Amino acid sequence: MEDRSFEKLEPVHVSELDEILGVPFKVLDDGFVRVVDYMGSDQSVVQAARVSYGKGTKKVNEDRGLIRYLMRHRHTTPFEMCEIKFHLRVPMDCWRQWIRHRTANVNEYSTRYSLAIDATQTTKPDEWRLQSKSNKQGSEGYIDSSLGKEFSDEELKLQNMTREIYNRRIEAGIAREQARKDLLLSTYTEAYWKIDLHNLLHFLSLRMEPHAQLEIRQYARIIGEKIVKKWVPLTWEAFEDYVLNSLMFSKLELSLLELIANNNVDAAIKTAEGFNWLKRKDDGTFKQNLERVEFENKLKKINMKAPWQ
Ligand SMILES: Cc1cc2nc3c(=O)[nH]c(=O)nc-3n(C[C@H](O)[C@H](O)[C@H](O)COP(=O)(O)OP(=O)(O)OC[C@H]3O[C@@H](n4cnc5c(N)ncnc54)[C@H](O)[C@@H]3O)c2cc1C
Repeated sequence: MEDRSFEKLEPVHVSELDEILGVPFKVLDDGFVRVVDYMGSDQSVVQAARVSYGKGTKKVNEDRGLIRYLMRHRHTTPFEMCEIKFHLRVPMDCWRQWIRHRTANVNEYSTRYSLAIDATQTTKPDEWRLQSKSNKQGSEGYIDSSLGKEFSDEELKLQNMTREIYNRRIEAGIAREQARKDLLLSTYTEAYWKIDLHNLLHFLSLRMEPHAQLEIRQYARIIGEKIVKKWVPLTWEAFEDYVLNSLMFSKLELSLLELIANNNVDAAIKTAEGFNWLKRKDDGTFKQNLERVEFENKLKKINMKAPWQ
């Protein structure tokens, strides 16, 4: 065997994460997320990257620079060296969105094997959101809380009724796998969810984003800000800088941005017309165009306006 010396290795621990191991962070009215186990740290990302690049320097500021480089250039595999396992309690409608992320390992509470969890997510009178006019998938603003109270009362009645019917079926000996069929989507479920850091950041980039539904966003925010930030602070900082709070411009948008930055207003408008972004209705207002609106929103983030606004 080749005569090589190997460094002595110690198990990786992140004391800030060890302190919250097993501690549930409350989400919604009866949900939680807690860390059950983890593997790796910022150092594991650096160590994996250095296998690719050959041995390099080992100072903290150089580690930080390397992690930032990896994140900026989407060199993702070093982030897959870290893993984390969560115990979650989530309403089923939220879980249905969560489970679409296929790159995790999952074990969910079985309502065939055990009685369904006797808890449903409830909505307070001032929490009923209105349908967004601009985003078909989204919400904006809240319904008046006096009307909201009526919806909350109705919700409670419905939740109690479905639970009573479920219990009656169980008491009559109906199989759990069938008795559950009319339970509401607001019923809580629990799961163990294990994922590597690269795919967790992908999950967070989609689910912390304002377009994600508020309920899953609340879980994602807790995972990101209360857990991942403590676990891998350098990676989290790079993720915030280069992914979460960054802006991506398309080729079309960049061509417009260049014209706007050079005060070339007429050319910018002509170019946008060429993209079919500025078609008007009979009343003179713009027809709905998602790409135009998204570009306007990006400009707003950097305190700019499109010349047609
Ligand atoms: C705001 C929002 C709205 C959404 N609306 C809808 C909707 O209306 N209807 C709907 O059905 N879904 C909807 N989704 C779900 C969405 O389409 C994705 O299924 C979900 O976000 C998971 O993303 P993902 O596939 O990138 O993640 P993961 O499943 O975690 O996969 C991570 C990455 O791995 C790769 N990967 C994983 N599996 C495969 C595979 N089999 N083949 C190739 N590459 C793979 C891909 O690069 C993928 O991006 C919505 C999601 C969001 C965030």
